[in-house]
Order: sequence, then structure tokens, then C-alpha cells
Amino acid sequence: MLYSTVITAIVSIGLALSYLIISRKAHRSGIVVLLYHRLCPQAEWELLTGAERNFCCPVERFEEHLRFMLADGYRFLSLTELHLWLDNPPARSEKLAVLTFDDGSSSVYEHAVNITEALSIPAAVFITSDPDAWVHEHQPRLTAAQILELTNRGFDIGAHGVSHHGLNEMPEPKLRWELDACRQTLEGIIDAPVIDLAIPLGFYTTHVLERAAEHGYRLVFTSKPGRVQHDTHPNEIPRFTIEGQMTSNELQRLLSPLGIVARKLIASIKRLPPALLGENRWMPLRQQLFESRLGPYLHSRALLRMLGTMTAICFLLLTWLIARAF
Ligand SMILES: [Zn+2]
Repeated sequence: MLYSTVITAIVSIGLALSYLIISRKAHRSGIVVLLYHRLCPQAEWELLTGAERNFCCPVERFEEHLRFMLADGYRFLSLTELHLWLDNPPARSEKLAVLTFDDGSSSVYEHAVNITEALSIPAAVFITSDPDAWVHEHQPRLTAAQILELTNRGFDIGAHGVSHHGLNEMPEPKLRWELDACRQTLEGIIDAPVIDLAIPLGFYTTHVLERAAEHGYRLVFTSKPGRVQHDTHPNEIPRFTIEGQMTSNELQRLLSPLGIVARKLIASIKRLPPALLGENRWMPLRQQLFESRLGPYLHSRALLRMLGTMTAICFLLLTWLIARAF
């Protein structure tokens, strides 16, 4: 009995020390980059099913998130300020964030810009340039006039591919064409250089990042979770995907040291199926999964709960096994 108590105490101290080490690392100064996809009114969101409930955020909740971040002391940066921060990291530590949208849903124009303007928050939208490319259901895409107005109202415009397909599975000429053609279309609309890119679908390889740099992109955003640190490469900027289900309290927990570690763990689990099957085979399967009975549980909040429960069960099982052994 004495042995089991000692061993359980050692395991607990080990876990506590690991948490402290992780906390120290996660608390290093760094920038939080938020990734949203589209917004819709709460009543409309209630009717959504499958993956759309993850990718669409109720407008009211989006505003709550931003107000929470501001109240918590975060200052929002534009993409140029983020680039300058990476070039010349300031000595003093400050809570910093960047707000981004992927895909180019017209809801960015219809709902987001009024809120960001009212709160004086700069933002960026990464746009898939082919208006007929399959990006999402239910919502139309930004028109050229809306894109132009967004730039006049403080939005940075970035590229998000032409076809919204995984860049990593494309033949070389197609990859190079996607990187150039998307930018050229957007530059034709806003009459200014487009120099930042967000990877469509989040699938990429070192080769894709190298090509993006060769094609003149300044910052390349991924959807790997994590804070931007001083040593983060500008061609691989991590972001936190914000799902429609996430409350402000959950956002706060997500940005805590343990929340970041849990998110990283979930992200590595989520990367396994496309890595094993290839993105082209995985994406239709993923769609079916979201539409199945499992769909409502395939978002980070539910997955985090499952992860927490499994960790607790494993810990109790370990303690029980040790107690039995001695
Ligand atoms: Zn996208």
C-alpha cells in the first residue's frame, strides 16, 4: 500500500511538473492568430448541420469573442504589423492577436466589417479567386466590389488559391499556376499587391512553402494551432481555427497553456487520416462523416471533452494497476 501511494505521488508530481514546463513554454510572448471562415445570424446558425456548424460562427458570438479579447488586454495587428513584429521583435511582451478569415464568404462583408470597424480591429481575408470553386455551402462569395470596399475599410486581402484544392497534391505546373493566378485576379480587383497567402484546406508540405516563397509571398498562414513566436518562420504562420460552437469562455481556455497543448494534440490526430489516405480521398469521406450521426461530435469542444475523459480514465487505470501490483 505504501509503495502504491509513493508511486502514485511520483506520477502526480511528474504530471504537475510536465504541466509547469508546458505552461512556461506556452506563456512565452507570442501572437495569437484567429481563423474564422464565415458568419451568420444566430437563428440561421441553429438550422445548420454537419461541418457548417463548425465553419460558420454566429455573428453575435463573433462579436463576443472580439470584445472578450479586447477586455482581456489583446491588441490586434494588421498583416504588415505582424510582419514587422517578426522582423524586429520588440523587447517588451504584450498580448497581441491577428484576425483572419479564409475562403472569401460574402458574410465577411455583410457582417464582419461593421463589427471590426466599430471595434477598430484590423483584419485580413484570404480569398479563393474562382467564384465557382467549391468552398462551402449556403453562402455566396465576395464580389469584386465587396472586396474593393473591404480594402477601403481596413481589411488586408490575401490569396487562398484558385480552386480551393490541396496545393500539396498538385502537379508542379498547376501548383505554380494556382499561386500566381489567384494573386493576379485579386490584384486586378484591388489594384495593389497581394503578398500574403493562406493554405487552402490546411494541407501543405515543405515543397509548397518553398514554392510560395519563390512566388513572392511574404507571409504564409497555415491552420496548425500555436502562437506566433519570434522564431516562427514567416512562411509557416500558425493559427487557431475558431469554430461556431466556441463560447468566449472556451476561447479563453483554448488560449491557455493547457488549451494550446490539447489543441495541438487534437490537430495531430486530425492530420492522420488525410496523411494516410491522401487529401483527395479523405475530403469526401470527411464530408460523409460530418453528415453522419457522428457529425455533431466532430468539433474541438467535443473532442477535447473526449480527450480529457480518456486521460482521466487512463490515469485512474494506471493508479489502480499500480495499487494492485504492490
Ligand atoms: Zn479555405
